Amino acid sequence: MYTTMIGNYTAKTDFFKMTTPFELLSEYGSPLYVYNEDIFRSRLRQIKNLVKYKNFVPHYSVKANTNISLLKIVKEEGLHVDTMSPGEIYMALAAGFEPKELFYIPNNATEEDLRYAVDRGVLLSVDSISQLQLYAKINPNSKVAIRFNPGVGAGHHQKVVTAGKKTKFGVDMAEFDTVKKILEENNVTLVGINQHIGSLFMDSGAFIESTTNLLEFAKEFDSLEFIDLGGGFGIPYHKQEDQQPLDLVELGSKMDTMFEEFAQDYGREIQFQIEPGRIIACEAGIVLGTVTGTKQNAETTYLGCDIGFNVLARPIMYDSHHDIELYTKRAHPDLEKHPVTVVGNICESGDILAKDRELPMPEYGDIIGLMDAGAYGFAMSSSYNQRPRVAEVLLKSSGEVVLIRRRETFEDLIASML
Ligand SMILES: *Cc1c(COP(=O)(O)O)cnc(C)c1O
Repeated sequence: MYTTMIGNYTAKTDFFKMTTPFELLSEYGSPLYVYNEDIFRSRLRQIKNLVKYKNFVPHYSVKANTNISLLKIVKEEGLHVDTMSPGEIYMALAAGFEPKELFYIPNNATEEDLRYAVDRGVLLSVDSISQLQLYAKINPNSKVAIRFNPGVGAGHHQKVVTAGKKTKFGVDMAEFDTVKKILEENNVTLVGINQHIGSLFMDSGAFIESTTNLLEFAKEFDSLEFIDLGGGFGIPYHKQEDQQPLDLVELGSKMDTMFEEFAQDYGREIQFQIEPGRIIACEAGIVLGTVTGTKQNAETTYLGCDIGFNVLARPIMYDSHHDIELYTKRAHPDLEKHPVTVVGNICESGDILAKDRELPMPEYGDIIGLMDAGAYGFAMSSSYNQRPRVAEVLLKSSGEVVLIRRRETFEDLIASML
């Protein structure tokens, strides 16, 4: 038996099912990424059923979490995937997706990158005039999509706002004439246009606004087969402060209205796509680690653990918040809360998971859980400080616990060096 010292997310969602954080770490080692299949599937289904509009094909954004066992579940649930690199194309094909179920949306691709997709029959979207020229040169008489910048961005941090006037992404809609000219000269048909305004919008305003712009613009092209509205659907990272989820029912019904109106104006029920990654994978994953102790340095109380930014990079990279749970086997833990700064084991002072968080004081051997780590968690991890990358387990709907990535070894650290 164990006690949850703080946090009720795992209790509310029955996250650990038949196992416990203690059993998991003793079996698979610490730290450990843990995914819950029920939650993952339920998010996939929510997104699949987001709208009533028939010709709707959501794409799971592979970069959020690329574990092949999860990709196979995405395939079973009938979503397609969007990919950002040849490596992601490779992974999606290895998971069993057909080339036509992939969409490749590179940024600053090399000729080699573009050829990788073209050779495998994967449709791609270009991101600039020069990339369109490069693509047209290597693959004339073909089809292409173009990522336009709808002039509106959104996101939880400047680094993930991916549209609007100050980002590197998308073709400016004002370059429309140049685009048309290159397409005509090379007999390339524009079959799709896409946008991605940024990551983690919690209110649909900016998304609806940019989509309205994009749809207006789309009417300029008569050859479209699809319009892709991108990802960025947010999740509530602050559940311990009762942050509410994005209202998907409201968003879905607004999208339905826009899709129907567009189909009427355009004269065809064109295909609509979206590319959410985080909203599908994020809440299905938790990263568990071991508490190594606490200490007082001048004014600050530090809680140390073995989850460095090599394991979870989001806090150091974007100042991201992750709710924290603490679990103990001690019979009489003191549950009184104090402001503590939670840090990892990497030799850099920026290795901070949370600043001045109100937490009870754990002791060596207690377990710390960082919530909502299923997206951009393992995918952004590294072996910095020569800490081998950690293992991942899947808690199946049946209750079975399956190791879906083994922990790397010291031998793995050296394996690719000559
Ligand atoms: C990252 C990305 C996504 C997914 O973003 P989420 O925040 O995970 O929804 C979708 N499309 C493109 C082009 C991206 O770069």
